[in-house]
Formats: sequence, C-alpha cells, structure tokens
Amino acid sequence: MTVYLVGAGPGAPDLLTLRAARILAQADIVFHDALVAPEVLQIAFRAEKVLVGKRSGRYSTAQRFINKQLADAARKHRVVVRLKGGDPMLFGRAHEEIDFLRRNSIGVEVVPGITAATAASAEIGISLTRRGAARSVAFVTPRVGQGEAPSNWVGAALAADTVAIYMAAGEAAVIAQALIAAGKPPATPVAIVENASLPSARKFAGQLADLAELAAKTHDGPALILLGQVFSEAAAVVRPARGRRAQAR
Ligand code: SAH
Repeated sequence: MTVYLVGAGPGAPDLLTLRAARILAQADIVFHDALVAPEVLQIAFRAEKVLVGKRSGRYSTAQRFINKQLADAARKHRVVVRLKGGDPMLFGRAHEEIDFLRRNSIGVEVVPGITAATAASAEIGISLTRRGAARSVAFVTPRVGQGEAPSNWVGAALAADTVAIYMAAGEAAVIAQALIAAGKPPATPVAIVENASLPSARKFAGQLADLAELAAKTHDGPALILLGQVFSEAAAVVRPARGRRAQAR
C-alpha cells in the first residue's frame, strides 16, 4: 500500500520527471489538481482520474475528504497517485496528506517536481542566485489556512536577497504595501511570471511600487511574483515576444 505524491511540474508536460511518468503509467487511480496539464494525465492511461484540486475560490474539496479518499484508494488499488502542480512539498499541503496516510499505516513516496519559482526563473532567463547580487532565495506565501495566525512571510522576504511569492498575484496591492511598510525600498525590482513554462507564458517587470499595476495585466493563469535586485534586468528581457516563441519541444 503506497500512495505516491508526485510533482507534475509547472505546466509544460515535458518538464515532468521520468520517475513521475513511470509511476503515472502504472497508476490505477490519480487524484490531481486543477492545474495539471491534460497531456500529463494522459500518461496515466489506465488510471481513473479524480479532480480534487483547489484553485482559490473556484473548486475545492475539503482537505480532510481528500485524505480519506487517498487512504480508501490505497486499500483498494496497487498504485495510487496524488498528483500536485510544481513540487508536491512546496505550498501543496503535502504534510497533511503524508501525516494522515502514515497514521493509517499507508506508505508514502514523494516524487519531486519542478517548482514554479525555478520555472519562472527559466522563463525570464534570470538566475535567482546571481553571484555578487543574491546569495539567498526565499519561497514565501502570504496565504495561511483558515483560522491560522498570520505568518512572518514579510520578515522572510526582507531577509532574503531574492524572493518568490506564491499565491499572491491576486492581492498584489496588499503585498506591495506590506513590504514597503516593513522597509523594502519601493524601487526594488520585481517581475511577475504567469503560466511559466507554457506557450501562454506572460511576463511583466517593474518596481515594487508598481506591483499592483503589473499584476493587473495578468490574465487567468497561475502567476508568481519575483522580487530582488537580480530582476533589475528583467524589464529588458520580458518584452512580449512578437509572434510565436521559439520552441525546443
Ligand atoms: N506546489 C506548487 C505551488 C502550489 S501553490 C509548486 O511547487 O510550484 C500555487 C501557486 O504556484 C500559484 O498561485 C502561483 O503563484 C504558483 N504557480 C504554479 N504554477 C505556476 C506557473 N506555471 N507559473 C507561474 N506561477 C505558478
């Protein structure tokens, strides 16, 4: 009895790991998030697919119910996959699932995936750890669970040279305000990458003071806010390409 917690990567199906693809091909049942690409699901050709993902405000299955579904499936099937966008261990409530499964004596194996921050870094061709400018990266989110105390994400964002802010583009004004109020210079370079790794990727760059304005330009896709001196060159590289992007796929 093993549940595989598998990272689906940032969106492009060919950014899936070989291990993830092998396990998906063997899967009897796949519980997946809304953001997982149809091409990735197709690899699980024998599996029953169950959408359990949460995209803020759109579709939600209570976490407790997901935990129970996973445990029930593990008792019935040989290969059960819980497929999560990006890396399963970052901002994906992996701990709650792992903890529940372990308490029910069900084995768990985690298959890492490419997280949005590294996909976004690739998308704009800017290193998150450029030598001489950035020696630390913080992955943060202002989002906390219902009833939880606010986190100290602002403190982490102030302490790190480069910051990747997940689940935040929808509240960019508040984010910028909080950071500036805490002492981050309004002129700090920022970038927003939407749909990183997909042909529909869109990129915006500017300063922290303009964050809300930049975020307002995003469409409907998942978007990551990036912050730090390394993005001072972002404005030059994010000009929307005319026509199709060159694709090595
Ligand atoms: N486990 C995932 C993150 C889940 S939280 C990972 O490791 O990437 C969901 C947030 O991730 C979104 O709100 C957005 O901020 C970010 N995200 C996910 N996919 C993205 C993509 N393709 N481009 C930009 N941001 C993305």
